[in-house]
Amino acid sequence: MAKTHSLGFPRVGRMRELKFALEDYWAGKAELKTLEDTAQKIRQYNWGVQKGLDFVPAGEFCYYDHMLDMSTRLGVIPERYVADESAVTTYFRMARGRAPGGKDVAAQEMTKWFNTNYHYLVPELKKDQKFTLNIADQLAQIRAAKAAGVNVKPVLVGPVTFLALAKQRDAGENSEARLAHLPALLQAYAQWLKALADEGIEWVQLDEPILVTDLTAAWQQALQQAYAELSKAPVKILLATYFGTLGKNLDTAVKLPMDGLHIDAVAGRAQLDDVQKLWPQDKVLSVGIVNGRNIWRTNLRQAVETLQPIAKVRGDKLWVAPSCSLLHSPVDLTSEESLDGEVKSWLAFAVQKVGEVAVIAKALNQGVDAVKAELDDSDAVVKSRQTSKRIHHDAVAKRIAAVTEADYKRKSPFSERIQKQQAQLKLPMFATTTIGSFPQTPEIRALRRDWRASKLSDADYTKAIQAEIKLVVDEQEALGLDVLVHGEPERNDMVEYFGELLEGFAFTRFGWVQSYGSRCVKPPIIFGDVYRPKAMTVEWTSYAQSLTKKPMKGMLTGPITILGWSFPRDDLAPSQICQQIALALSDEVLDLEKAGIKVIQIDEPAFRELLPLKKEDQPAYLKWAVESFRLSNSAVADETQIHTHMCYSEFNEIIEPIAALDADVITIETSRSDNELLEVFRKFKYPNDIGPGVYDIHSPRVPTVQDMEQLIERAVNYIPAKQVWVNPDCGLKTRRWEEVRPALKNMVEAAHHLRAKFKA
Ligand code: GLN
Ligand code: ZN
Repeated sequence: MAKTHSLGFPRVGRMRELKFALEDYWAGKAELKTLEDTAQKIRQYNWGVQKGLDFVPAGEFCYYDHMLDMSTRLGVIPERYVADESAVTTYFRMARGRAPGGKDVAAQEMTKWFNTNYHYLVPELKKDQKFTLNIADQLAQIRAAKAAGVNVKPVLVGPVTFLALAKQRDAGENSEARLAHLPALLQAYAQWLKALADEGIEWVQLDEPILVTDLTAAWQQALQQAYAELSKAPVKILLATYFGTLGKNLDTAVKLPMDGLHIDAVAGRAQLDDVQKLWPQDKVLSVGIVNGRNIWRTNLRQAVETLQPIAKVRGDKLWVAPSCSLLHSPVDLTSEESLDGEVKSWLAFAVQKVGEVAVIAKALNQGVDAVKAELDDSDAVVKSRQTSKRIHHDAVAKRIAAVTEADYKRKSPFSERIQKQQAQLKLPMFATTTIGSFPQTPEIRALRRDWRASKLSDADYTKAIQAEIKLVVDEQEALGLDVLVHGEPERNDMVEYFGELLEGFAFTRFGWVQSYGSRCVKPPIIFGDVYRPKAMTVEWTSYAQSLTKKPMKGMLTGPITILGWSFPRDDLAPSQICQQIALALSDEVLDLEKAGIKVIQIDEPAFRELLPLKKEDQPAYLKWAVESFRLSNSAVADETQIHTHMCYSEFNEIIEPIAALDADVITIETSRSDNELLEVFRKFKYPNDIGPGVYDIHSPRVPTVQDMEQLIERAVNYIPAKQVWVNPDCGLKTRRWEEVRPALKNMVEAAHHLRAKFKA
């Protein structure tokens, strides 16, 4: 009999209860007890949903981040946090630098969890690191889960992934130096597993997603050492991998002496046969067949057919599961009462995915007739998605088929374009600009809200937004900026705004997914072919241009970012979805050009985020990503200046593909990592114009003229002065006018100094 389990469940709660409880607690509006009660209720709900599974995850719930829980439970707490304070105060000071009852302090570094939009807190190791167990809270969760009547399978991040994701400042760049901690760390894990065995636990899940990344021999060896040691523990270990194939680590993985192996059979579909062959038959093979990180219903019949041969040979050693923790999926589809019925019938959120796992196992164990209704229903969904007119548009397919190499190329090389652009724009050296948004005040948000709720007429809304645009243009004129923007007051979110105006997108009301801590995102769903029914930004941009003689920059979100920050359809390759979005955007670009807009920016902050985990998969991604970006704007005249913008990431290893985008100008976040980025430009001659951000917009601090001047002067050591622009790191929407005004004033003054200094 095949068994069922899940790897983890969203902790934010059906209605984001945890978010609100956390924020009230942080603001001093609620006692710790209230937060604890909310958390307890969410856990009870989660266990209730998963009750029918043979093994239910527990002990993986956390207030902020599960890697942070690993750090505190293992005693990896840097000295700056340890003081006379409660564990919860320490915990939130580590998470966010601030907690009720503690002093402000630098938070731990936060970064993205593999290729997801979830962020974890990076464990900070030191040279003589000791590991001490603090797991009373986890044991309490496990006891509560048992009391709730579920068969508990505790979930821990495995020791090798923990070390691989940690940093050790005093060891510099050398990642393998961290392996010196492995023996001590394994002792702590051994104790931990023993404590779980004492609770009567049979199976423990150890997550080692690091196995789907490129590993050096030393890290592979660490895995062997770790699991040779941990297999002595008095519990059974299910080693869980997800987000891709084991790839070159396959041989290492299948020789590890654990009792069970979980593989991702969605992102890592290609490995299923190999693993099935190589992984011993007397051990548990858990197959993640239900996509844990997208929102589409599983093709149940296909899943059953895939698993039947495995069930035949493995019997109860086959476990059926979601591909990864359901943490990356919204909680419950039944909350979506206003979602279009047809689209809704295609979707499954975490609650529904647990149900799918159960149906698949029932089909394997009792035969397909036992779940005939469910399979028929699933077949109908498959068919509806294959044929629905809502999804497939012949015109889009025809247009895609007609794309040729020439569509990826501007008419002339940059050296010629820039001269023609300069002839009409007549910009000074060190031209100044901003990234797009200006402060989004509560009044602006209220305008949009009232208009959506039909409390404000279209005419009044237009008038109010135009007034805001005028204010922003006047401010920029007064500041003396060179290339102006309209300020984006009409946009709630840079992806949602375009998604709502394009065909092929749907939006949920409660489809929240945790991004970090209490912050959740609600990605749009790309369900069908994407195209642009009508112009999206031309009116606002033209209005803004009518207010000034200076060039007004049109502002669009790029194809890669729209794809990356949505739930993409699973019946079309990401490269093709991206190409459709690029074509829709190219219509907009040409309309802006026709309306007299001479500078157009296409933002791609997610360019780096979609980079595949394995080196060997990266060139293919970079090829289609670069092509899509180019497709979105290559049809313009040489005279039209295309900008792009990137932030949030380390660009060093992908600077060549960034240059290959062939944008006339890139504005890029630099002020927090200036030295590193400038180092790149020392080695690589960036060919086009570039604006290294001089104003860190994530900080309320107003940079001085001198700060900004110095940053550009250092840049000019590596990039010819005539290629350099002066601009902030990113959009200004989260800042207040009181900060933005003096900061931009200083920025413009810095540009004046630079012009005087570098006059040819
Ligand atoms: N144009 C956008 C803005 O200024 C860019 C935001 C981003 O890069 N994340 O807000
Ligand atoms: Zn940005």
